[in-house]
Amino acid sequence: MHTVAGQRRTLTCFPNIQHEMSEPQGKHGAGKRCKYNGPMRAPIGIIGGSGLYRMEGLALDRAVAVDTPFGTPSGPVHLGTLEGAPVAFLARHGEGHRFTPSEVNYRANVWALKSLGVERLICVSAVGSLQARHRPGELRLVSQFIDKTKHRKDTYFGEGLVAHVSFAEPTCAHVTETLQASGRALALPIEGESVYVCMEGPAFSTRAESRLHQGWGADLIGMTQVTEARLAREAELCYACIALVTDYDAWREEEAGVDAASVLEVMHANVDKAQALLRAVVPRLSTAPRPCACGTSLKAALFTAPEAVPSEARQRLDLLVAKYGYGVAR
Ligand SMILES: [Zn+2]
Repeated sequence: MHTVAGQRRTLTCFPNIQHEMSEPQGKHGAGKRCKYNGPMRAPIGIIGGSGLYRMEGLALDRAVAVDTPFGTPSGPVHLGTLEGAPVAFLARHGEGHRFTPSEVNYRANVWALKSLGVERLICVSAVGSLQARHRPGELRLVSQFIDKTKHRKDTYFGEGLVAHVSFAEPTCAHVTETLQASGRALALPIEGESVYVCMEGPAFSTRAESRLHQGWGADLIGMTQVTEARLAREAELCYACIALVTDYDAWREEEAGVDAASVLEVMHANVDKAQALLRAVVPRLSTAPRPCACGTSLKAALFTAPEAVPSEARQRLDLLVAKYGYGVAR
């Protein structure tokens, strides 16, 4: 975000969206018409994880502060174009990496992207490897999760409106296959069909935990993705995860176990590969039809009788459920 010292303010350009004032006064001054000529909405969203705090090659970059019924996102959403395709980018842990995996407001993050028109969400996550064949420096695409989180809010529903979405296949096969094809075309070390254990953190695993997860047949361990996947499904977004392998977690007796310094070293090399993959896949997806069922995941999930839903819940969840007759009457 390009802020001008002493001139930071927001401009409201359309409902609920406030532009961070980030250009010299006169070009984008208070009370003047917005001169930003980049995209105001984007069908593809990217959430960057550890090491991926800004998107290389993002043109017409505009930082947008979004308020949500679930609080404030980790930071502004960067709207712009990637290789000519509109995209929205958000750094999961905030600028300067300020939020632990338990502190990230996942609900606000996914909601902010949905409110900007995102239909497909690609999340990037640094992970530990639980199997020798997944080597540090390589990329994996997630197909399944085991959820071991315990201290975070991971649903938009409750407080008057109950929904149970299907989560048997938690990722979008179409987006994941497109990522795999693009990765192979770039000759990146990438494979799919990985099972991701999502732990709470922030401490890394003990050796006993690491061996247990390995024994379950899981492939990767991280701290954020099952939560983003659940919320994306509730928000009817396609969801896919690019997992960046940084270490062997703690199961290898001959190694000292994972520490932050070694993770950071591998992570920086991995992030360059993820950026290259995103630059290739975003233009490809932006013109592709959406052949999956992700966009209707709430259709059979809403359990509460419409007449029993309180008006506060209708207002809060209008963005998600209005299309099913549960929104605020207009
Ligand atoms: Zn999908």
